[in-house]
Amino acid sequence: MIEKAINTLQHYFGYKSFRKAQEQVVESILSGIDTVAIMPTGGGKSICYQVPALIFPGITIVISPLISLMKDQVDSIKNLGINADYINSSLNNREMTAVMERLTAGEIKILYLAPERLESESFCAVMSELDISQVAVDEAHCVSQWGHDFRTSYRYIGKFINKLKHRPYVNAFTATATDKVRLDIINLIGLRTPKVFISGFDRENIKINVLKIENRLNYIINYVKENSDQSGIIYAATRKDTDRIYEKLVEAGVAAARYHAGLSDGERMKNQEDFVYDKISVIVATNAFGMGIDKSNVRFVIHYNMPKNIESYYQEIGRAGRDGEKSECILLFSPQDIITQKYLIETSVQKTERKVGEYKKLQNMIDFVHHNGCYRKYILNYFGEITEYESCGNCSNCLSEGEIVDRTIDAQKVLSCIYRMKRDFGVNTIVDVLRGSAQKKILKYGFNELSTYGIMKEYSKENLSNFINMLISHGFIGLKEGEYPTVILNENSVKVLKGQVKVEFKEMKRVNKISSDNELFELLRNLRRSIAQEEGVPPYLVFSDNTLRDMSVKYPVDQVSILNVSGVGEVKLERYGQKFIELIQHYVTENDIKVTSKVTEFDDPNKGKSDKIKTHEVTIDLIKKGMSVEDVAKERQLTESTILSHIEKYIRENGDVDLKVNFSSIVTEEQEKEIRAAAEEYGVEKLSPIKKVVSENISYEAIKAVFIKMMISQQRIIKE
Ligand code: ADP
Ligand code: MG
Ligand code: ZN
Repeated sequence: MIEKAINTLQHYFGYKSFRKAQEQVVESILSGIDTVAIMPTGGGKSICYQVPALIFPGITIVISPLISLMKDQVDSIKNLGINADYINSSLNNREMTAVMERLTAGEIKILYLAPERLESESFCAVMSELDISQVAVDEAHCVSQWGHDFRTSYRYIGKFINKLKHRPYVNAFTATATDKVRLDIINLIGLRTPKVFISGFDRENIKINVLKIENRLNYIINYVKENSDQSGIIYAATRKDTDRIYEKLVEAGVAAARYHAGLSDGERMKNQEDFVYDKISVIVATNAFGMGIDKSNVRFVIHYNMPKNIESYYQEIGRAGRDGEKSECILLFSPQDIITQKYLIETSVQKTERKVGEYKKLQNMIDFVHHNGCYRKYILNYFGEITEYESCGNCSNCLSEGEIVDRTIDAQKVLSCIYRMKRDFGVNTIVDVLRGSAQKKILKYGFNELSTYGIMKEYSKENLSNFINMLISHGFIGLKEGEYPTVILNENSVKVLKGQVKVEFKEMKRVNKISSDNELFELLRNLRRSIAQEEGVPPYLVFSDNTLRDMSVKYPVDQVSILNVSGVGEVKLERYGQKFIELIQHYVTENDIKVTSKVTEFDDPNKGKSDKIKTHEVTIDLIKKGMSVEDVAKERQLTESTILSHIEKYIRENGDVDLKVNFSSIVTEEQEKEIRAAAEEYGVEKLSPIKKVVSENISYEAIKAVFIKMMISQQRIIKE
């Protein structure tokens, strides 16, 4: 069964295998057991119900809460050659009727539905007559009051299922892991003794950075400029900060947009779309942004402020790197953030009971920021996941990046000034004293008489207050909250003053490039952009970053080898393959790159670089010894298609028509006949037209083998 699923996965999606968690879920679904899958954002939930949908005889209904996502997802699977459609309130009556007609005519395999639809009696009546194999409930936490985006109409799912002609397999998917939500899903949807799969919540490809730095805005500008060709989200806690960062970025020449509740619906929609379609690279936003964005190539998420809790934080950084490519998230912490978040809780939460809960979660977030161990471990443990490692090697604590700078003397100046001021003041007043300001307030308290008056004149106001905030965020000074928060000395301050503890900060002087893209990747991306523009779809729907990167190291110059690239299935091969192949062919010729050897190099990790060029000759030697293509592939740990490319190259270059090749492991006589017949009609330029008309069990390799045979006999004729 799972084999069939893997074939389906390869055929439509172009992926070589399921991820571990996916495989278990798909197996369970295919065996007809109701299944609940809890997987993190980007874990690949959609494929878990889409692949079974293609295998089941009847229709699959996908209940999905977000209109914007629905269109994206349907476009994306249509692009893979799957018959899919959606019904939600964005359709007018005529469009709706058209979809219903296609549905009843059996022309739709997967139908996405907004849950509101289930409230319509007449709609349910039509559905009850259809052959529905599976109901998949996506974002299933929406059934639960405990989920963060509760939707009343999700409660109709159970009733809907009961009205159907026969009970379909019912499966639910979410990224929310709490027990309460899970029980609600099972009870309210009416799942029958379901199997529940909870997969690890780790997102290994996302690097977690927490930085306590002096100038956050400068850091962001430098970072974005350094990574200007990458997509990223910058989150800020307030509209005001969002606007400010946005304006600074635009001033610095960055293609940015912004998103918050203060903009008109139209403006928000346009900005979001520009981001999704790669027309701009960076979006600055409040936490209102992100729901309903499936963009897979977000490479970085920066938090200008500390979020209100770990749940929001993890959800927001989860928007990076859904394609599994290396991505980065950076939390820029300032102690002022704590005050902002407390203020937001005070003003937005009414019930005392909930308030207490929110404060507790905020404290966990603050503890996270001050945590000295592995950040990833902290988060996973917070979600109840046990981690076996101490250090993940992919967070700023584990990597210990940055240059260590000793700031003890500056810290002592600040601390002794606070000590001498005797009463509690805010950061600004302390800054004024240290910089020797002659303001009334300063003179009134006689601070100009203190020995610390003006001892940090060389600092700008902003830098000094940033530095004091750093001392606070590292716990060297305490913060007393109130309407006007004031600073106080604590145990650590005393130790620093006595010289028992050093104040050492890691300074992130330089910003890093997330990934160094090669030139070919750039070219592929441009091609993708122009195709996307022509077709009016987001670029990542053409191919993901991941797929382009795979191309940029594998150099596929023909149809067989491009099918080896992760994310190239048969419909996409048909649709876009040629354009990408041509670009790569051109590129390898220009740059004098030996292609077959490159492919080999990738497929064969044991292979040293020095014998790159001769690799196909090694293959030929083995063939000449009488080994079959299958045996050579095994012996060399290469794919059969690579071996075939070697043979093809050899014959083309050497015209050796006497080479005896044993293709019997790849193509049977009967298959060969069928392929030859098809080749007469469709020619031998492309594999895919042939693949389409011949029996399903005939592989691309088989077709290629026959092409090679035909090439040999043609050359023989020419020679004779
Ligand atoms: P989720 O809904 O769990 O957040 P998605 O279903 O949107 O995640 O999948 C996230 C990304 O992972 C998509 O770009 C998808 O194409 C990719 N993906 C899913 N399964 C695989 C797989 N087996 N191999 C490679 N990529 C995959
Ligand atoms: Mg999803
Ligand atoms: Zn770590």
